[in-house]
Amino acid sequence: MAKIKTNKTPAASAPCPCFSGNPYGDCCKPFHDGEKSPQPVQVMRARYAAYACNMPQFIMKTTHPDHEDFAKSGWRDSILVFCNNYKFTGLEVGQPEVDQDTPDKVYVYFTAMMAGAKGGGAVSFDERSVFLLTDDGEWLYRAPDANYKESVNVISKRKYNAAAKTDRPSGFSAR
Ligand SMILES: [Zn+2]
Repeated sequence: MAKIKTNKTPAASAPCPCFSGNPYGDCCKPFHDGEKSPQPVQVMRARYAAYACNMPQFIMKTTHPDHEDFAKSGWRDSILVFCNNYKFTGLEVGQPEVDQDTPDKVYVYFTAMMAGAKGGGAVSFDERSVFLLTDDGEWLYRAPDANYKESVNVISKRKYNAAAKTDRPSGFSAR
C-alpha cells in the first residue's frame, strides 16, 4: 500500500468537493469535522466529498451498521484504494423522498461522476440510496434501493477501468 494517499482536506475557502458551489467551510466541512446533519441529502453530499478527499473514516462513520461492508476487515483500505483510483468530477442530487410507511427512511437520488485517476475514461452512476435515521438522530447510509434500477454510463469513449462497476464501495454504493 505504498502509494495510497490519505486525507487531503481542502481549505475552508476552497470550493466544496461535493460540487454544491459553496465554500468547503460552509458546506461539508462541519460534517467531516463531526457535526451531525439533520438532512440525509447533506450526508450524501458529505460522503461524496469524503471520497474526493480520501476520508474513509467519514464513509465508515456514516454507514449504517446493517450495511454488508460494516466492520469488515480491510474495509478502510478498500475505500482508500477506491478513493485513490478515481477523480470525483461531479455530483447531482435530486429531491429526497420520505418513505410512506417509515418516516425514518429517506430515499436520495443522485448522479455521481468519476474518472480514472490515471487517465481512465469518465463514468457516471445513477442511484437511489436509502438513508435511515438512528435513535441518536443521525442519518446513515444503508444501501442502494434494490427496487431502483441503477445505471452506469460511460461518458467518454476512452476505455475506463472495469473496476468502476465492480469495486465500487459503499458510499454512493457501498457494495
Ligand atoms: Zn459540500
